[in-house]
Amino acid sequence: MSREIRRLDPKTVERIAAGEVVERPASAVKELVENSVDADASRVAVSVENGGIDGIRVRDDGVGMDEAAVRRAVEEHTTSKIADVEDLEAGVRTLGFRGEALHAIGAVSRLTVTTKPRGGDRGTELVVEGGEVESVGPAGCPEGTTVEVEELFYNVPARRKYLKRPSTEADHVQRVVTGYALADPDVAVTFEADGRERFSTAGRGDLRSAVMAVYGREVASAMVEVDGADLDLPDGPLDGVSGLVSHPETTRASRSYCSTFVNGRYVAASAVREAVVDAYGTQLAPDRYPFAVVFLDVDPATVDVNVHPRKQEVRFVDEEGVREQVGHAVERALLDKGLIRSGAPRG
Ligand code: ADP
Ligand code: MG
Repeated sequence: MSREIRRLDPKTVERIAAGEVVERPASAVKELVENSVDADASRVAVSVENGGIDGIRVRDDGVGMDEAAVRRAVEEHTTSKIADVEDLEAGVRTLGFRGEALHAIGAVSRLTVTTKPRGGDRGTELVVEGGEVESVGPAGCPEGTTVEVEELFYNVPARRKYLKRPSTEADHVQRVVTGYALADPDVAVTFEADGRERFSTAGRGDLRSAVMAVYGREVASAMVEVDGADLDLPDGPLDGVSGLVSHPETTRASRSYCSTFVNGRYVAASAVREAVVDAYGTQLAPDRYPFAVVFLDVDPATVDVNVHPRKQEVRFVDEEGVREQVGHAVERALLDKGLIRSGAPRG
């Protein structure tokens, strides 16, 4: 006897889909901050309660939305960023384009969007709970958008159980917000957890000041500049490598203080991270990792930023070439400052 095959009801499908977009508070924060950046914000303020499990708030001074737009924004597969597959093929300049984040977050939380278009005369507040629009109405608010997420996964107990301690979730959120703060030093980014400010960048466009804001003066002031243009990169897939890397004695026990950016986009690139670590050779104590902020310029055709839409890991066509160029650039920067010895064994 064969098993009965059923079609899942739309609510179940929605929950499953939402769980793929939003894994934990940090993934919701990632989506919301990307939306703020795409909305041309010059200030983005992120705050979380209890690691984001109880509450997340992302406020921006971006272009905002009128009532019709915000109603549309929380629906399924709705976006203002692309129109069709041709736009997709032509290359997407925005961080988002899938049109699923707000809908997904709204399906697994109580979501409140308060927004007013730039130059508009009225604001709107829209509340979604468990995927249903609860209310829409006028609101007094500044231009820009505030998104609040309360009780994430209240209706997905299995997912809620899998969350780590609030302090761990808050650290994940902080890492994400840090990445975007460093990607765009000309955006003023603030991060607050349980009412306490963890960092705040000035938004004046200077990378070292942004690094100072997120990692502190001590780390930032000992960082060495990497400038691929000056360093005469070997031939390879990269058009440029730049950024800041730490003094070999300024390290942490985690790899997560190495942030990588491809064509300005904050991404995970383990090959790049490994090349950075290898460049320090034996100057790095065992199980210690440097701070690094590494920007790569690369022909978009030679990199796949969508290996997994949510995981952020990128893949390069010529990964060996990327490793070599990054390693070279970082090594030269450290050598020039006398921080490593030449010929130090790699790896
Ligand atoms: P996507 O970012 O892929 O377009 P989202 O679900 O994240 O999909 O957002 C849907 C739409 O809502 C966006 O395309 C944008 O038009 C609008 N939107 C979302 N967040 C903001 C924001 N912070 N400011 C202005 N518009 C926003
Ligand atoms: Mg988005």
